[in-house]
Amino acid sequence: MRIIIFGPPGAGKGTQADNIADEYGIPHLSTGEIFRAAIRNGTTLGRQIKTRMDTGRLVPDDTVVELVEKELNKPEYEDGYVLDGFPRTLPQAEAYDEFLEANGECLDAFLVLVVPEEELVSRILSRGQGRSDDTEEGVINRLHIYRNETRPVLDHYIDQGKVTKIDGVGTIDEIFGRIKEELDG
Ligand code: AMP
Repeated sequence: MRIIIFGPPGAGKGTQADNIADEYGIPHLSTGEIFRAAIRNGTTLGRQIKTRMDTGRLVPDDTVVELVEKELNKPEYEDGYVLDGFPRTLPQAEAYDEFLEANGECLDAFLVLVVPEEELVSRILSRGQGRSDDTEEGVINRLHIYRNETRPVLDHYIDQGKVTKIDGVGTIDEIFGRIKEELDG
């Protein structure tokens, strides 16, 4: 099963992607996690992207696409995966579509977590995970980028008839229950 979990920053993508990975026995690929690990480990990539990430700006498309494709070509992703944080721009979505087509694969589900904007900011600022981009400036920039660069990805998959909306308000278990109903139904 190949699944994309999508939504604005603070919608709970990471948490629900973990739940999906556990329930369906597929790996969870989070581009944000890969970038945070690169920064923690002080790799060349990490040094290149730290300032950008801390201020909530996006990593360049070429870098992201190359990294995701390299990862998805590994055998552990052969039977499916849940993608969290990718694709985040239209060029990334187009590159991913081409990647699937070249491999004769298709996307099984595109789930979008729907959460009102007022709730996103307070969720992020109170999540207390110590993320260096969870500052007020970081959050405002990420919401702005979401609206301008990431939202078009949703329209792209709506045009393909792939999108399922999930009410992202409620407890983690309630929201996961809704996701399971969609995936199992
Ligand atoms: P996330 O953990 O998905 O909220 O991502 C945290 C940060 O990592 C983002 O604000 C971006 O700076 C960077 N990032 C993660 N995924 C992508 C992506 N697909 N394209 C560009 N930048 C990304």
